[in-house]
Amino acid sequence: MPPRTCALCNDARAILKRPKTGQQICKDCFFYVFETEVHNTITEAQLFKRGDRVAIGASGGKDSTVLAHVMKTLNERYNYGLELFLLSIDEGITGYRDDSLETVKRNQQQYDMPLKILSYDELYGWTMDAIVSQVGKKNNCTFCGVFRRQALDRGAAILNVDHIVTGHNADDIAETVLMNIMRGDIARLGRCTSICTQGEDTIKRSKPFKYAYEKEIVMYAYFKKLDYFSTECIYSPDAYRGHARAFLKDLEAARPSAIIDIIHSGEAFEIKEDVKATQKIQQTCKRCGYMSSNELCKACTLLEGLERGMAQAAVTDRARKKLDAVGPAPENLRQIPMFKPPSGVHNSTHVAASVGT
Ligand code: SF4
Ligand code: ZN
Ligand code: ZN
Repeated sequence: MPPRTCALCNDARAILKRPKTGQQICKDCFFYVFETEVHNTITEAQLFKRGDRVAIGASGGKDSTVLAHVMKTLNERYNYGLELFLLSIDEGITGYRDDSLETVKRNQQQYDMPLKILSYDELYGWTMDAIVSQVGKKNNCTFCGVFRRQALDRGAAILNVDHIVTGHNADDIAETVLMNIMRGDIARLGRCTSICTQGEDTIKRSKPFKYAYEKEIVMYAYFKKLDYFSTECIYSPDAYRGHARAFLKDLEAARPSAIIDIIHSGEAFEIKEDVKATQKIQQTCKRCGYMSSNELCKACTLLEGLERGMAQAAVTDRARKKLDAVGPAPENLRQIPMFKPPSGVHNSTHVAASVGT
């Protein structure tokens, strides 16, 4: 049988089957359609404006490495006029993050972008290794997620950028939609598909890979021979998400459009006014100045729990009462440095949902 020709250019030999569409195409056409779809996502959502300083949340993994490569390519090809930075968070996980950060340091050279690494240890005085030795492998991802979110914003403030892009892909978003449906979390379901979270007066976060399939990201990294780190975190990731992931992979095998269809379903949900009414007024944490929907931000509450040897009591708002019942926080409690938002972002009062994203 003669070799197939590419379904897009009708010229070169097709060497791959595109996971999203099933088309047999050549390598160059694959790069071009993948990049162009990300460009279309960016322009349709008007994610950037000229002169924006944008940090790429970089973990050294495939998603963020491909994101850094594609952002650099598009910024040059379409003359976006962006200043790009790499921002990495060092959670302090021996045998995982230390190795992946070496990859990010090489990416800094390869992509010629300034890199800022901020560690949990310098910010909170706790590494994830130390946290896991206190809390065990249950709830460790709760600590890690809350600490990472705030660390990224603080890193953005240090770089004086007003926008963080992350490598969340279509599979991640579809998984989150499924999880929110299974938990009946309608408020989150309404928000989890938005390409850009956070309002005008906080650090903007967006997901240019919102419609990019994980399989295509892996393929892109492979054919471009990008330098990335592929080991999973040694502390068990969220088991429930694992079930949603396995279910999604089965659906994708039966019908590749399932991933996009689930995202579209999530986008089509409308939140009723009375659900919206449960949103709380956003304020600033009285201890560290970070955005919060309570007097203390979640990171300060979790840090206080760790410092007082009562970490599990800090995990939920209800359990927090136990912590308060023991007495007020000691005077010499370790505290997170005061948060100063980047210039151009105002730390003002605004309405935000009572639950985190
Ligand atoms: Fe942190 Fe959990 Fe992710 Fe590991 S799996 S990096 S502990 S959030
Ligand atoms: Zn082609
Ligand atoms: Zn705080």
